Amino acid sequence: MKVNGNFDNLVENYLFAEVAARTAKYVRENPEKKVIKMGIGDVTLPLAPIVVEAMKKGAEELSKKETFKGYPSYEGYEFLREAISGYYKKNGVNVSPDEIFVNDGAKSDCGNIGDIFSQDNVVLVTDPVYPVYVDSNIMSGRKIVYAPSNEENGFCAMPDESVHADIIYLCSPNNPTGAVYSAKQLKVWVDYALKNDAVILFDSAYEAFISDDSPRSIFAVEGARKCAIEFCSLSKTAGFTGTRCGYTVIPKELERDGHNILKLWYRRQSTKFNGVSYPVQCAAAAVFSETGLAQIRENIEYYRRNAKIITDTMDKLGIYYTGGKNSPYIWIKCPNGLGSWEFFDMLLERANVVGTPGEGFGECGKGYLRFTAFASYEDTVEAMKRIESMLA
Ligand code: PLP
Repeated sequence: MKVNGNFDNLVENYLFAEVAARTAKYVRENPEKKVIKMGIGDVTLPLAPIVVEAMKKGAEELSKKETFKGYPSYEGYEFLREAISGYYKKNGVNVSPDEIFVNDGAKSDCGNIGDIFSQDNVVLVTDPVYPVYVDSNIMSGRKIVYAPSNEENGFCAMPDESVHADIIYLCSPNNPTGAVYSAKQLKVWVDYALKNDAVILFDSAYEAFISDDSPRSIFAVEGARKCAIEFCSLSKTAGFTGTRCGYTVIPKELERDGHNILKLWYRRQSTKFNGVSYPVQCAAAAVFSETGLAQIRENIEYYRRNAKIITDTMDKLGIYYTGGKNSPYIWIKCPNGLGSWEFFDMLLERANVVGTPGEGFGECGKGYLRFTAFASYEDTVEAMKRIESMLA
C-alpha cells in the first residue's frame, strides 16, 4: 500500500511550537519575571449563561424516554438553522434555513469542502494566511497561488486579473492581520470569481467583531450567491472553541461544471458526517436569541476594549498596524526594521510579553507580529505599558 504522497509536500509549521519553546526557556531561566501572553488565539471568557442553560436543558431532554433523540439530521436541526437564518436577516442578508449546514466548527468544513472539487483546480489564498486553507489543499495535491497582502494594499490583497484561480479563499475580518474588506473590495473579488468561473470560500469566523459598516457576510455583496460559499463559527462569536459548533452556507443557485453545489455538499456530508450533538445545537440556538446576543456582546465588548488599548498604544508609538477595530487581532509592523523573530525575542526578553511572529503565516508576514485581544484586561494594560517604556 501507499500513503497519500501529498503529505510529503506539507511544510512543517514550527510557529506555535517554537513560540512555546522560546517562552518556556525564558520562564525557566527567569522564574521571577511575570510573562504576559498576547499571542493567545483562543477565547478566554466563559460561555454566556443562557447558552449554558440551553445546553443543560438539551442534555436533560436526552435523559428522558419521551424527549430522547438519536442521530440528528446531517444538516442540523431546523430550529438552529432558522435561528441562524434570522441572525443573517438582522444583518440585512437573506439566507434560507435550507441553505445552512450546521457543523462542529469552521475548520472542518474549510478543509472538507475540497472533497467536492476536482484536484485540478488552482487555489488562491491571500498571504499571510490561516494555514488550514493551504495545508488542506496541499493534502489534496492542488496547486496554490498566493495574492500578497501588504502595507500597500492595507493587508487586503486584491485579485490580479492576469492570474487564473478556480477556488479562492478569503477571510474577513482576517486572521492573522485583522484587516477587513470593504463592500467595494469584495465586489471586485466577486466579479473576478464570476469571470473566472471560480468559487469563493469566504471565512467569516470573526464577523461578530465588525463594528462599522463593513460586510459581515459575502452574501451582502451583489453576485455572491452565484459564486460563493460562506463558513462561519460560534467559536469567536460566542466562545464555542471548546463546545464546537459552526455553519456553512451554500446558496441554492450555486452551480459549477453542470452540478448543483449544495446537492454535492449534502451528498458529501450525508456520507462522512453524522451531525452535531443535540445539547450543543440547543446551546448554539440560544446564542441567536435576543438575550443570547446581548450576553455574547458583553464578551465581545471586553475583547474589543483590549484591542483598543493595543491600538491606542501603537498609535502613540507611531507603529503601523492593521486590525483591532473590527477584529480581535492586531497585526503590527516590527519597529526599526526588525524581523518577526528578532522582535519576538526583544519583546520577550525586555518587556516579558509574548506575541506571534508574522512570518509563521506566510512570506508576506515577515517583519510583522500578531497580538490578540484575548488576554485579560489587566494583562493587556500591563503589557502595553511595558512595550511603551521599552520603545520610548
Ligand atoms: N477560520 C479562521 C480564520 C480561524 O482563525 C479559526 C480559528 O482560529 C477557524 C476558522 C476555526 O474555527 P472553529 O473553531 O469553528 O473550527
